[in-house]
Amino acid sequence: MTVTAILSALSEEQQGLLAQLVQPEKLTRGGRDFWQGELHGRRVVLALSKIGKVAAATTATTLIEAFGVHRIVFTGVAGGVGPGVQVGDVVVASDFVQHDMNASPLFARYEVPLYGQTRFACDPALTALLMQAAKQALASMAPPFAMQGAQTKGRVHGGLIASGDQFVASAASARQLLADLRAAGHAPQAVEMEGAAVAQVCFDYGLPFAAVRTISDRADDSAHVDFPQFVNEVARHYALAIMDALVRSLPP
Ligand code: SAH
Repeated sequence: MTVTAILSALSEEQQGLLAQLVQPEKLTRGGRDFWQGELHGRRVVLALSKIGKVAAATTATTLIEAFGVHRIVFTGVAGGVGPGVQVGDVVVASDFVQHDMNASPLFARYEVPLYGQTRFACDPALTALLMQAAKQALASMAPPFAMQGAQTKGRVHGGLIASGDQFVASAASARQLLADLRAAGHAPQAVEMEGAAVAQVCFDYGLPFAAVRTISDRADDSAHVDFPQFVNEVARHYALAIMDALVRSLPP
């Protein structure tokens, strides 16, 4: 049976899924806990990557080498930087770029050395299922800020996501980062700290990869303020609903 890895950075994003895991079995490797079991009759491994590209890459490699997973799906939160990408929206990744990769002048800025490429693409078929799952989940949920009076539902976007070992928490640094990326032809919808690393590992192993991020902040001066509250009150419910819909849509 095909085994699907569901990888998250923060434990809040995993808790709901873990509670539903049938016949859970925990194994620890390289400082990470891996939960094997079944969700809706599909075999899954749930894992927490911790934060940043190195942590995400080692976790993805362990999922492949030690647990033999056949595909990896990442669920997490991110800063929204694309036009119209708001807190409470969701971005499904089409591909990834590392915004802190810079081996110029030896290689073009953002190019990953010795790969001859800058962006790493997500798997189109798995991404289409994830997009469908995200739309279905958001349609079935109350608006994220209903308690604050807002009635708008979160929207689902698709597109490029930029990853790097930096929590982007000032309008000035977000502006600079975006201006530099756009000058090189990359227009991300969101910034986060893990996705591009997992995309690169999956590229190395020829494994399908897809990723979804709930927008927790706008990567500006207030990015840190609401972060823990947002993850607790909104993002973890999104993560659960989206992954639940995705797993149901996977072939058994
Ligand atoms: N407060 C957390 C740390 C979160 S770090 C703790 O103490 O555990 C931020 C996490 O959210 C990373 O996993 C990253 O991928 C994502 N993220 C959300 N907003 C981001 C932003 N503006 N810039 C970079 N990463 C962001």
